[in-house]
Amino acid sequence: MDLVEFQGKQLFGRNGVPVPPEGSVCRTVDQIVAAAEQHLGDGHGAVVVKAQVKTGGRGKAGGVKLASSVDEAREHAESILGLDIKGHTVNIVYVEPASDIAEEYYLSVMHDRVDKGHLVICSREGGVDIEEVNRTNPDAVVKRKLTPHETVDGLATDTAREIVAEANLPEEVRDATADLLVKLFAAYKAEDATLAEINPLIRRPDDSVIALDSKVSLDASAAFRHDGYTEWQIEGLEANSPLEAEAQAKGIQYVKLDGQVGVLGNGAGLVMATLDVVAQSGGQAANFLDVGGGASADAMAQSLDLVLKDPDVKSVFINIFGGITRGEEVAGGIIEATKRLGDFPQKLVVRLDGTNADEGRRMLEEADLPSVIPAATMQEAAAKAVELAGQA
Ligand code: GDP
Ligand code: MN
Repeated sequence: MDLVEFQGKQLFGRNGVPVPPEGSVCRTVDQIVAAAEQHLGDGHGAVVVKAQVKTGGRGKAGGVKLASSVDEAREHAESILGLDIKGHTVNIVYVEPASDIAEEYYLSVMHDRVDKGHLVICSREGGVDIEEVNRTNPDAVVKRKLTPHETVDGLATDTAREIVAEANLPEEVRDATADLLVKLFAAYKAEDATLAEINPLIRRPDDSVIALDSKVSLDASAAFRHDGYTEWQIEGLEANSPLEAEAQAKGIQYVKLDGQVGVLGNGAGLVMATLDVVAQSGGQAANFLDVGGGASADAMAQSLDLVLKDPDVKSVFINIFGGITRGEEVAGGIIEATKRLGDFPQKLVVRLDGTNADEGRRMLEEADLPSVIPAATMQEAAAKAVELAGQA
């Protein structure tokens, strides 16, 4: 899960990484004006109005602007709200007391998938595209690999000092930057981030260093350790995939794919086999969802709700082999879900087998739901679902 700038800064702040004075999260021009008024009134000489979207290069796109008066802030509010930055519409703007910048550096920690460790990158040339710096002047970019073994107790201060010295940061800021790096690494670990990037890390005129920008990605696999990352889910920000986020929050395994058939099954093995039969029938799955081994009627309803919300889904293939999950439970779930969901255009092709399958099939038959089409075998169900999706 990717955070926007102000969230990344909140995450930094609570882990002791120095950030600018707290700003205001705004959604309207009036809110931006009020926030500017407040911060300027508090004695800050200027505010910076910053688009909050999940992409970089906001400055270049006109999404980051300084204002030293309320009128200026209003002008920026009007130009930034609704702005399109690389396909992301600006719905949220962060108004922060502006910082004085003496120099701009680059600092980040990230997962190194190739070496299965951590990678710290530090450069004296920040505030610009670091990949560009790496191409044109690779010597200016220090990349230090750290093994998990080396960092069990966090990043050692000595190592942090070595890194900032190697990056040739000015003497005056080395201690403060090393200290910040140790905290950044601790934040990255504690919050289960896969990336914690600061660009620019700024040197202020008093030689203190703070994170002026943030880019933080959190490890989706660790969501269960952080309440499903619900604290970071806010309205107005498109998630990478809103449905995946919703599934995660509900503890459901959901994966988005490119086709038109929604696939819902119990157990990872059966779900994989289902994808294969759909493919053999000439179709493609739009997504797949594993309702798990002991899925209750409620879980079934929640899962179906998710699958149907995917606008790519033209038909749904529900493939259940009853083991722990009994046939009548599944049937109950399907009936409950269709009632709860009201009208939906897609048909549900249901193949039910295993424990109490007969009872389940009978319940579905009696419920006489117009959206449900029973199928006797996996192959038959797949062929029907693919046909309904208009792919046959
Ligand atoms: P990005 O373009 O998406 O990376 O957004 P940043 O937050 O990095 O801002 C882009 C640039 O705007 C920075 O590199 C700074 O040069 C400038 N900027 C951002 N905030 C401030 C601020 O508080 N004061 C000053 N003077 N410049 C700022
Ligand atoms: Mn930046």
